[in-house]
Amino acid sequence: MICLKAISVIGAGTMGRGIAYTCAAHGFHVTVHDIEEKALKSCENYIEEQFQKAIEKGKISEFDAERAKNSIVYTTNIKQAAQSADLIIEAVLEIMDLKIRIFKELDQYTKPETILATNTSTMSPTEIAAQTNRPDKCIALHFFNPVPKMKLIEVICGLETSEETVEKCFAFGKAIGKECVKINEFPGFAVSRMNCLIGNEAMNMVMEGVGSVEDIDKAIKLGLNHPMGPLELADLVGLDTRLRNMEYLYQTLGEKYRPCPLLRKYVKAGWLGKKTGKGFYEYK
Ligand code: NAD
Repeated sequence: MICLKAISVIGAGTMGRGIAYTCAAHGFHVTVHDIEEKALKSCENYIEEQFQKAIEKGKISEFDAERAKNSIVYTTNIKQAAQSADLIIEAVLEIMDLKIRIFKELDQYTKPETILATNTSTMSPTEIAAQTNRPDKCIALHFFNPVPKMKLIEVICGLETSEETVEKCFAFGKAIGKECVKINEFPGFAVSRMNCLIGNEAMNMVMEGVGSVEDIDKAIKLGLNHPMGPLELADLVGLDTRLRNMEYLYQTLGEKYRPCPLLRKYVKAGWLGKKTGKGFYEYK
Protein backbone atom coordinates (compact mmCIF):
# COMPACT_ATOMS: atom_id res chain seq x y z
CA MET A 1 0.00 0.00 0.00
CA ILE A 2 1.20 3.54 -0.79
CA CYS A 3 2.18 5.35 2.42
CA LEU A 4 0.93 8.79 3.31
CA LYS A 5 4.01 10.96 3.78
CA ALA A 6 3.01 14.63 3.50
CA ILE A 7 0.29 15.75 5.91
CA SER A 8 -1.45 19.13 5.82
CA VAL A 9 -3.47 20.42 8.72
CA ILE A 10 -6.16 23.05 8.12
CA GLY A 11 -6.82 25.13 11.25
CA ALA A 12 -4.04 25.70 13.80
CA GLY A 13 -6.20 25.87 16.95
CA THR A 14 -6.41 23.53 19.92
CA MET A 15 -6.62 20.38 17.80
CA GLY A 16 -4.77 21.39 14.64
CA ARG A 17 -1.58 22.24 16.53
CA GLY A 18 -1.66 18.95 18.43
CA ILE A 19 -2.18 16.97 15.22
CA ALA A 20 0.58 18.91 13.45
CA TYR A 21 3.07 18.33 16.30
CA THR A 22 2.25 14.63 16.58
CA CYS A 23 2.70 14.07 12.84
CA ALA A 24 5.98 16.04 12.75
CA ALA A 25 7.33 14.18 15.80
CA HIS A 26 6.69 10.90 13.97
CA GLY A 27 8.65 11.94 10.90
CA PHE A 28 5.89 13.18 8.61
CA HIS A 29 6.34 16.25 6.47
CA VAL A 30 3.80 18.73 7.84
CA THR A 31 2.18 21.90 6.49
CA VAL A 32 -0.12 23.92 8.72
CA HIS A 33 -2.66 26.36 7.31
CA ASP A 34 -4.79 28.90 9.16
CA ILE A 35 -6.43 32.14 8.03
CA GLU A 36 -5.02 33.89 11.11
CA GLU A 37 -1.29 34.74 11.25
CA LYS A 38 -1.68 34.92 15.03
CA ALA A 39 -2.99 31.34 15.19
CA LEU A 40 -0.03 30.12 13.11
CA LYS A 41 2.46 31.92 15.37
CA SER A 42 0.87 30.50 18.50
CA CYS A 43 0.88 27.03 16.87
CA GLU A 44 4.59 27.40 16.12
CA ASN A 45 5.26 28.35 19.77
CA TYR A 46 3.24 25.38 20.99
CA ILE A 47 5.15 23.00 18.72
CA GLU A 48 8.47 24.47 19.90
CA GLU A 49 7.43 23.86 23.55
CA GLN A 50 6.28 20.31 22.84
CA PHE A 51 9.59 19.43 21.18
CA GLN A 52 11.47 21.01 24.10
CA LYS A 53 9.51 18.86 26.57
CA ALA A 54 10.09 15.75 24.44
CA ILE A 55 13.87 16.44 24.40
CA GLU A 56 13.90 16.92 28.20
CA LYS A 57 12.07 13.61 28.65
CA GLY A 58 14.53 11.86 26.32
CA LYS A 59 11.79 10.98 23.83
CA ILE A 60 13.57 12.60 20.88
CA SER A 61 17.14 13.75 20.21
CA GLU A 62 17.90 17.46 19.77
CA PHE A 63 19.02 16.71 16.22
CA ASP A 64 15.77 14.96 15.25
CA ALA A 65 13.63 17.60 16.96
CA GLU A 66 15.44 20.38 15.11
CA ARG A 67 15.04 18.58 11.79
CA ALA A 68 11.33 17.92 12.41
CA LYS A 69 10.67 21.53 13.46
CA ASN A 70 12.49 22.96 10.47
CA SER A 71 10.52 20.83 8.06
CA ILE A 72 7.16 22.26 9.17
CA VAL A 73 5.67 24.83 6.80
CA TYR A 74 3.23 27.44 8.15
CA THR A 75 1.04 29.21 5.62
CA THR A 76 -2.07 31.35 5.31
CA ASN A 77 -2.40 30.13 1.71
CA ILE A 78 -4.72 27.11 1.51
CA LYS A 79 -3.59 26.32 -2.04
CA GLN A 80 0.00 25.93 -0.85
CA ALA A 81 -1.16 23.66 1.99
CA ALA A 82 -3.22 21.54 -0.37
CA GLN A 83 -0.87 21.10 -3.32
CA SER A 84 1.51 18.35 -2.33
CA ALA A 85 -0.32 16.69 0.58
CA ASP A 86 -1.11 12.98 0.66
CA LEU A 87 -3.51 13.43 3.56
CA ILE A 88 -5.23 16.64 4.67
CA ILE A 89 -6.76 16.87 8.12
CA GLU A 90 -9.25 19.70 8.57
CA ALA A 91 -9.56 21.04 12.14
CA VAL A 92 -11.45 24.33 11.79
CA LEU A 93 -14.49 25.33 13.84
CA GLU A 94 -17.38 22.88 14.19
CA ILE A 95 -19.54 24.63 11.58
CA MET A 96 -20.85 22.48 8.73
CA ASP A 97 -20.95 25.26 6.10
CA LEU A 98 -17.34 26.19 6.85
CA LYS A 99 -16.15 22.60 6.63
CA ILE A 100 -17.98 22.12 3.32
CA ARG A 101 -16.47 25.31 1.89
CA ILE A 102 -12.97 24.17 2.85
CA PHE A 103 -13.46 20.65 1.47
CA LYS A 104 -14.66 22.11 -1.85
CA GLU A 105 -11.52 24.26 -2.06
CA LEU A 106 -9.23 21.40 -1.09
CA ASP A 107 -10.88 19.18 -3.67
CA GLN A 108 -9.92 21.69 -6.39
CA TYR A 109 -6.32 22.21 -5.29
CA THR A 110 -5.12 18.73 -4.30
CA LYS A 111 -3.88 15.74 -6.22
CA PRO A 112 -6.77 13.41 -7.13
CA GLU A 113 -5.43 10.66 -4.84
CA THR A 114 -5.19 12.87 -1.72
CA ILE A 115 -7.32 11.78 1.24
CA LEU A 116 -9.43 14.53 2.81
CA ALA A 117 -10.21 14.00 6.49
CA THR A 118 -12.24 16.05 8.93
CA ASN A 119 -11.56 16.13 12.66
CA THR A 120 -15.22 16.89 13.36
CA SER A 121 -16.42 15.74 16.79
CA THR A 122 -20.01 15.16 15.79
CA MET A 123 -20.85 15.92 12.14
CA SER A 124 -21.54 13.78 9.10
CA PRO A 125 -18.52 12.97 6.91
CA THR A 126 -21.01 11.83 4.24
CA GLU A 127 -22.53 15.33 4.04
CA ILE A 128 -19.07 16.91 3.72
CA ALA A 129 -17.83 14.30 1.21
CA ALA A 130 -20.90 14.74 -1.00
CA GLN A 131 -19.72 18.24 -1.89
CA THR A 132 -16.45 16.92 -3.36
CA ASN A 133 -15.60 14.90 -6.44
CA ARG A 134 -13.90 12.23 -4.31
CA PRO A 135 -16.36 10.94 -1.70
CA ASP A 136 -14.47 7.63 -1.68
CA LYS A 137 -11.40 9.50 -0.35
CA CYS A 138 -13.20 11.50 2.35
CA ILE A 139 -13.34 10.34 5.95
CA ALA A 140 -13.52 11.61 9.53
CA LEU A 141 -10.46 11.13 11.72
CA HIS A 142 -11.56 12.15 15.20
CA PHE A 143 -8.52 12.91 17.35
CA PHE A 144 -8.71 13.69 21.08
CA ASN A 145 -7.39 16.51 23.19
CA PRO A 146 -4.49 16.83 23.99
CA VAL A 147 -3.52 15.04 20.79
CA PRO A 148 0.09 14.14 21.70
CA LYS A 149 -1.14 12.28 24.81
CA MET A 150 -4.44 10.78 23.75
CA LYS A 151 -4.13 7.34 22.19
CA LEU A 152 -7.38 7.09 20.23
CA ILE A 153 -8.49 8.05 16.75
CA GLU A 154 -12.12 7.33 15.90
CA VAL A 155 -12.21 6.56 12.19
CA ILE A 156 -15.65 7.33 10.79
CA CYS A 157 -16.51 6.28 7.27
CA GLY A 158 -18.97 8.18 5.15
CA LEU A 159 -21.40 6.31 2.92
CA GLU A 160 -18.94 6.16 0.02
CA THR A 161 -15.59 6.01 1.86
CA SER A 162 -13.53 3.24 0.24
CA GLU A 163 -11.92 0.38 2.13
CA GLU A 164 -8.57 1.51 0.71
CA THR A 165 -9.01 4.95 2.33
CA VAL A 166 -9.86 3.30 5.67
CA GLU A 167 -6.82 1.01 5.47
CA LYS A 168 -4.50 3.92 4.67
CA CYS A 169 -5.90 5.89 7.60
CA PHE A 170 -5.44 2.96 9.99
CA ALA A 171 -1.82 2.62 8.78
CA PHE A 172 -1.32 6.37 9.30
CA GLY A 173 -2.82 6.17 12.80
CA LYS A 174 -0.44 3.37 13.70
CA ALA A 175 2.52 5.30 12.28
CA ILE A 176 1.81 8.23 14.62
CA GLY A 177 1.44 5.91 17.63
CA LYS A 178 -2.35 5.90 17.88
CA GLU A 179 -4.98 3.18 18.20
CA CYS A 180 -7.80 3.41 15.68
CA VAL A 181 -11.38 2.21 16.01
CA LYS A 182 -13.80 2.06 13.09
CA ILE A 183 -17.14 3.64 13.97
CA ASN A 184 -20.20 3.80 11.77
CA GLU A 185 -21.48 7.26 10.99
CA PHE A 186 -24.10 8.55 13.42
CA PRO A 187 -24.17 12.01 15.06
CA GLY A 188 -21.50 12.27 17.75
CA PHE A 189 -19.99 8.88 16.76
CA ALA A 190 -19.16 6.96 19.98
CA VAL A 191 -17.06 9.22 22.19
CA SER A 192 -18.62 12.69 21.71
CA ARG A 193 -22.11 11.21 21.97
CA MET A 194 -21.28 9.84 25.41
CA ASN A 195 -18.93 12.59 26.60
CA CYS A 196 -21.17 15.53 25.68
CA LEU A 197 -24.00 13.97 27.67
CA ILE A 198 -21.83 13.51 30.78
CA GLY A 199 -20.42 17.04 30.51
CA ASN A 200 -23.85 18.61 29.98
CA GLU A 201 -25.29 16.73 32.95
CA ALA A 202 -22.40 17.96 35.14
CA MET A 203 -23.16 21.56 34.01
CA ASN A 204 -26.86 21.06 34.83
CA MET A 205 -25.84 19.80 38.27
CA VAL A 206 -23.75 22.93 38.89
CA MET A 207 -26.69 25.09 37.76
CA GLU A 208 -29.10 23.20 40.04
CA GLY A 209 -26.77 23.62 43.03
CA VAL A 210 -26.14 19.88 43.43
CA GLY A 211 -22.50 20.59 44.29
CA SER A 212 -19.58 22.90 43.58
CA VAL A 213 -17.63 22.63 40.33
CA GLU A 214 -14.70 21.13 42.24
CA ASP A 215 -16.84 18.61 44.15
CA ILE A 216 -18.74 17.41 41.08
CA ASP A 217 -15.46 16.86 39.22
CA LYS A 218 -13.94 15.14 42.26
CA ALA A 219 -17.02 12.90 42.64
CA ILE A 220 -16.85 11.73 39.04
CA LYS A 221 -13.06 11.25 39.11
CA LEU A 222 -13.00 9.23 42.32
CA GLY A 223 -16.44 7.64 42.08
CA LEU A 224 -16.25 6.56 38.44
CA ASN A 225 -12.48 6.40 38.04
CA HIS A 226 -12.37 9.05 35.30
CA PRO A 227 -8.91 10.64 34.91
CA MET A 228 -10.46 14.11 34.57
CA GLY A 229 -13.68 15.65 35.83
CA PRO A 230 -16.30 16.49 33.17
CA LEU A 231 -16.10 20.23 33.90
CA GLU A 232 -12.31 20.49 33.70
CA LEU A 233 -12.52 18.45 30.50
CA ALA A 234 -15.11 20.85 29.02
CA ASP A 235 -12.79 23.76 29.87
CA LEU A 236 -9.93 21.97 28.10
CA VAL A 237 -12.05 21.26 25.01
CA GLY A 238 -13.19 24.92 24.84
CA LEU A 239 -16.71 25.87 25.88
CA ASP A 240 -17.50 27.41 22.46
CA THR A 241 -16.49 24.16 20.74
CA ARG A 242 -18.51 22.15 23.28
CA LEU A 243 -21.57 24.36 22.75
CA ARG A 244 -21.37 23.84 18.95
CA ASN A 245 -21.11 20.08 19.54
CA MET A 246 -24.16 20.15 21.85
CA GLU A 247 -26.18 22.25 19.40
CA TYR A 248 -25.51 19.79 16.58
CA LEU A 249 -26.38 16.80 18.76
CA TYR A 250 -29.53 18.56 20.01
CA GLN A 251 -30.61 19.15 16.39
CA THR A 252 -29.86 15.61 15.30
CA LEU A 253 -30.48 13.44 18.37
CA GLY A 254 -33.08 15.47 20.25
CA GLU A 255 -34.04 16.71 23.68
CA LYS A 256 -31.53 14.87 25.84
CA TYR A 257 -28.75 16.92 24.20
CA ARG A 258 -30.34 20.34 24.92
CA PRO A 259 -27.29 22.51 25.84
CA CYS A 260 -27.20 23.53 29.51
CA PRO A 261 -28.19 27.25 29.83
CA LEU A 262 -25.08 27.83 31.97
CA LEU A 263 -22.89 26.72 29.04
CA ARG A 264 -24.65 29.23 26.77
CA LYS A 265 -24.22 31.98 29.35
CA TYR A 266 -20.49 31.32 29.78
CA VAL A 267 -19.91 31.35 26.01
CA LYS A 268 -21.83 34.65 25.71
CA ALA A 269 -19.57 36.11 28.40
CA GLY A 270 -16.46 34.99 26.50
CA TRP A 271 -15.62 32.40 29.20
CA LEU A 272 -14.38 29.74 26.79
CA GLY A 273 -12.36 27.67 29.26
CA LYS A 274 -8.63 27.16 29.45
CA LYS A 275 -7.89 28.99 26.19
CA THR A 276 -9.31 32.28 27.49
CA GLY A 277 -8.21 31.81 31.12
CA LYS A 278 -11.73 31.38 32.49
CA GLY A 279 -14.51 28.82 32.21
CA PHE A 280 -15.76 26.58 35.00
CA TYR A 281 -12.31 27.18 36.53
CA GLU A 282 -9.89 30.11 36.40
CA TYR A 283 -6.44 29.67 34.86
CA LYS A 284 -3.33 31.76 35.34
P1 NAD B 1 -10.25 26.13 17.77
O1 NAD B 1 -11.27 27.19 17.86
O2 NAD B 1 -9.27 25.98 18.88
O3 NAD B 1 -9.38 26.30 16.41
C1 NAD B 1 -9.97 26.49 15.15
C2 NAD B 1 -8.95 27.13 14.22
O4 NAD B 1 -9.49 27.18 12.91
C3 NAD B 1 -8.59 28.58 14.60
O5 NAD B 1 -7.18 28.73 14.72
C4 NAD B 1 -9.13 29.41 13.46
O6 NAD B 1 -8.35 30.57 13.16
C5 NAD B 1 -9.06 28.41 12.32
N1 NAD B 1 -9.96 28.73 11.20
C6 NAD B 1 -11.19 29.26 11.24
N2 NAD B 1 -11.67 29.42 9.99
C7 NAD B 1 -10.72 28.95 9.15
C8 NAD B 1 -10.61 28.81 7.74
N3 NAD B 1 -11.59 29.23 6.93
N4 NAD B 1 -9.47 28.31 7.22
C9 NAD B 1 -8.45 27.92 8.02
N5 NAD B 1 -8.50 28.00 9.38
C10 NAD B 1 -9.61 28.51 9.92
O7 NAD B 1 -11.06 24.76 17.53
P2 NAD B 1 -10.66 23.27 17.99
O8 NAD B 1 -11.08 23.08 19.39
O9 NAD B 1 -9.26 23.00 17.57
O10 NAD B 1 -11.68 22.42 17.10
C11 NAD B 1 -11.43 22.17 15.75
C12 NAD B 1 -12.24 20.97 15.29
O11 NAD B 1 -11.84 19.82 16.06
C13 NAD B 1 -13.76 21.12 15.52
O12 NAD B 1 -14.43 20.48 14.47
C14 NAD B 1 -13.97 20.40 16.85
O13 NAD B 1 -15.28 19.91 17.02
C15 NAD B 1 -12.96 19.25 16.71
N6 NAD B 1 -12.49 18.65 17.98
C16 NAD B 1 -12.20 19.46 19.04
C17 NAD B 1 -11.73 18.87 20.21
C18 NAD B 1 -11.35 19.71 21.40
O14 NAD B 1 -11.14 19.14 22.48
N7 NAD B 1 -11.21 21.02 21.26
C19 NAD B 1 -11.57 17.48 20.28
C20 NAD B 1 -11.86 16.70 19.14
C21 NAD B 1 -12.31 17.30 17.99
